[in-house]
Amino acid sequence: MSPTTIVKTTCPYCGVGCGISAEIEDAAGHRVRIAGDPEHPANFGRLCSKGAALADTVSLENRLLYPRIGGARADWDSALDLVAERFRAAIAEHGPDSVAFYVSGQLLTEDYYVANKLMKGFIGSANIDTNSRLCMSSAVVGYKRAFGADAVPCNYEDLELADLIVLVGSNAAWCHPVAFQRIRKAKERNPALKIVVVDPRRTASCDIADLHLPIQPGMDGLLFDGLLGHLAATGATDAAYITAYTEGFEAALAQARSAAPDIAATAANCGLAAADVGLLFDWFAATEKTVTVYSQGINQSSSGSDKCNAIINCHLATGRIGRPGMGPFSFTGQPNAMGGREVGGLANMLAAHMDLDNPAHVERVGRFWGSQRVADRQGLKALELFDAVAAGKIKAIWIVATNPVASMPDADRVRQALQACDFVVVSDCIADTDTTRLAHVLLPATGWSEKDGSVTNLERRISRQRALFAPSGEARHDWWIFSQVAQRLGFGEAFAYRSSAEIFREHAALSAFENDAGHGRRDFDLSGLAELSDPAYSDLQPLQWPVSAAGGTARLFGDGRFFTANGKAHFVPVSPRPPRHVPDANYPFTLNTGRLRDQWHTMTRTGLAAKLNTHQVEPCVEIHPDDAARLRLPAGAIAKLTSRWGGMLAKIAISAEQRPGSLFVPMHWTGVNSSHGRMGALVNPVVDPLSGQPESKQTPVAIESWPAG
Ligand code: SF4
Repeated sequence: MSPTTIVKTTCPYCGVGCGISAEIEDAAGHRVRIAGDPEHPANFGRLCSKGAALADTVSLENRLLYPRIGGARADWDSALDLVAERFRAAIAEHGPDSVAFYVSGQLLTEDYYVANKLMKGFIGSANIDTNSRLCMSSAVVGYKRAFGADAVPCNYEDLELADLIVLVGSNAAWCHPVAFQRIRKAKERNPALKIVVVDPRRTASCDIADLHLPIQPGMDGLLFDGLLGHLAATGATDAAYITAYTEGFEAALAQARSAAPDIAATAANCGLAAADVGLLFDWFAATEKTVTVYSQGINQSSSGSDKCNAIINCHLATGRIGRPGMGPFSFTGQPNAMGGREVGGLANMLAAHMDLDNPAHVERVGRFWGSQRVADRQGLKALELFDAVAAGKIKAIWIVATNPVASMPDADRVRQALQACDFVVVSDCIADTDTTRLAHVLLPATGWSEKDGSVTNLERRISRQRALFAPSGEARHDWWIFSQVAQRLGFGEAFAYRSSAEIFREHAALSAFENDAGHGRRDFDLSGLAELSDPAYSDLQPLQWPVSAAGGTARLFGDGRFFTANGKAHFVPVSPRPPRHVPDANYPFTLNTGRLRDQWHTMTRTGLAAKLNTHQVEPCVEIHPDDAARLRLPAGAIAKLTSRWGGMLAKIAISAEQRPGSLFVPMHWTGVNSSHGRMGALVNPVVDPLSGQPESKQTPVAIESWPAG
């Protein structure tokens, strides 16, 4: 009997970034036993239903195994030559901004780094954006405005040390389940720990809540403005901290008082009971160790950035930041949303947390990469990018590990845009998605169980993802595919990578390359990893950035020094705005969208695990019993949902956990796995003007029986 091989890797689903211990039973047959890694600091052995079912998702079912051109099998050289030729031709005729990459938080940091270097550093356009735009870009803006850098101050241990946790727009029980398990355990150990959930729906996260505030959709900014005013009025602010470490408090407070003068007005405008709002405010005022967790319910909004800052303002006002058990904690959705941010995976960022609109940063990155062509202005953010495709301005687009035809707002328009685009390349490990069906060239990428590199979870913790199996068919790593096209475009030497370790070292070295961000300190620093040997990279243990020679960093800003020019944190005055589109006579409901407990994104992997499919088997729409009764919509019947942008069918699920006037539709079903249509087709293509993040939680819709009559 051969000795058992155990591989330590990380889960490919949510941003919690759980460590996995994989026992390989049969490498050729893709048989593996999955368990939580007891030593990984994100999960200490725990897994949720999705992570625990990973072994059922690594078969070759629906895998893309060979390159395809026009639907026919091709060899790699022909496919790569064609991609390079079409991109070169578009750039030559129409300029570098006529091409674009749309990538994914599923990519490893090394993949992301090479894609970003190719587009921003050598093609000379910043038209590379990512589906992470849809999940965390408002949080990035919030942190940058307040702290001077996109830097999460907290970690999971803070959830266990807190005496008050406020979950806002976060159903962590389903969307970040292992982090939620840690909160649940903490509450069992510490009965004094209070949990408050602010969410229009009564979600599974409310099961352990002491208080649920079913807020009117979109009003969170006003609630936190009200809280800031209450903290000041009751003497709960920390005047010494505000004076020593922050600026802009008076302006933020004046704005908050004008928007939300007292508890009664705040409660009325948020559609909440004044007693409940008062209880939250009193608990927040009285509890030093408070963590506010916020997620898509905050970020996916046309005022998402302001909402993030309204939350951060309350932590700055009380000095509750950077110390154990406290802080404003953004929970991001994808496994490597954070890693993508580090290497400039967003169209408005350069690598290593540097800025495209800062000439010194552009010059420095150009010198490091040995390129004169580094983009010096922001590129198109996700929705703008597909608008440019629709307008014929983007002549060639390369979509990587994501399915925008299902997941983007106004998804029918995205489909039409790609159908009309001159040249569409898709790299994916999945053969059949709504988006691969529109590709002129398909490039087979390695899947989770074959990839090798690193990811960063939502507490800044870098972990290795290690391969369990050899690549299937002719699949190749994404960084290899980008490098091959780069070489064919004439950028050979800069892309002569032989391993993910080489790329990681370069990424770490760039973070240390003269990078003091103008204030004498590095805001994103991996200098301690810049000379990592191959064996050390192979064995790299999870650690949180910044990483200097002294090691990683558990918390940021405990010393009161921030990454702004003068080292002080910024309050941001927040003038709350309602959702851009509100219900009217034709579209009287507010559509809320989100995840289910047992599915991930468009189900290309979780849909392969039989036990995960039993939780919910088909697209549904949740509706409050009063609304269902009024419209005579019986449970289990099919309803037609329409918005100004599109429509879909869904099975009616009547639930008192819905807020009256609101509907909830899960995001997972697509044109491939369902005949009922795609949720994305309904969603309004409205974005936060600062972050570009879509307002996916608030679209006015109508609902009726189907077939009509
Ligand atoms: Fe994977 Fe997230 Fe579940 Fe952890 S909590 S096992 S990272 S899906």
